[in-house]
Amino acid sequence: MTYLLKRKLLHLFFPTRCPVCGGYIGAMERFCGECAKKLTRYEDSFSIEGAESFTAAFVYDDKVKSAVFLLKDGICGNAGYALGGELADRLNAEGIVKDIDVIVPAPMHRRDVRRRGFNQSAIIAKELGRILNIPTDNKSVTKTRHTHTQKGLGKVGRAVNLRSAFAASDDLRGKRVLLVDDICTTGSTLREITAAIKKAGAASVRCACCCKTNSHKN
Ligand SMILES: [Zn+2]
Repeated sequence: MTYLLKRKLLHLFFPTRCPVCGGYIGAMERFCGECAKKLTRYEDSFSIEGAESFTAAFVYDDKVKSAVFLLKDGICGNAGYALGGELADRLNAEGIVKDIDVIVPAPMHRRDVRRRGFNQSAIIAKELGRILNIPTDNKSVTKTRHTHTQKGLGKVGRAVNLRSAFAASDDLRGKRVLLVDDICTTGSTLREITAAIKKAGAASVRCACCCKTNSHKN
């Protein structure tokens, strides 16, 4: 059964909802018309040290917050579809899809995956892989050290907290990698993971996330 058919069948029993306002929408829709209009598209530019490019779909604000909350809580299946679809559109518009061999989600420590039950970045990576027809790799990059939450830490504190927390395997040698995360704040996490992937011999790393906060600039 194709993905689209599966989605339409599922919609018959569990009608698709807008991940922002919760209103019912069509089976193939991402958001309701009103929310799609009021969400803030990310128009700024940002760079991650060591990465070729940085792409974000939305500015992280109160409007998109509920969709990200649903993604992290795993309550609403449509949050991954909606946010992943928007990010795929943005990557296509930037014309960089042809320069990607593999999509890698920002890893969570196994203890956190156990607690939550899934990695929300892996949901976005899977959605991008399906839409862009690029393989995903959930195994080659791991978070080897459990770290404290980044919340409340400044840019320097965040970088120190994450130092040597990630590792990447040889499987990424020579590959052009798209590293995917849900939210980017200061870029410390993406920078640390990018460094680990490049250390493993990847040809290049590009970064993409659903939302970028506006509070930190490079
Ligand atoms: Zn809505």
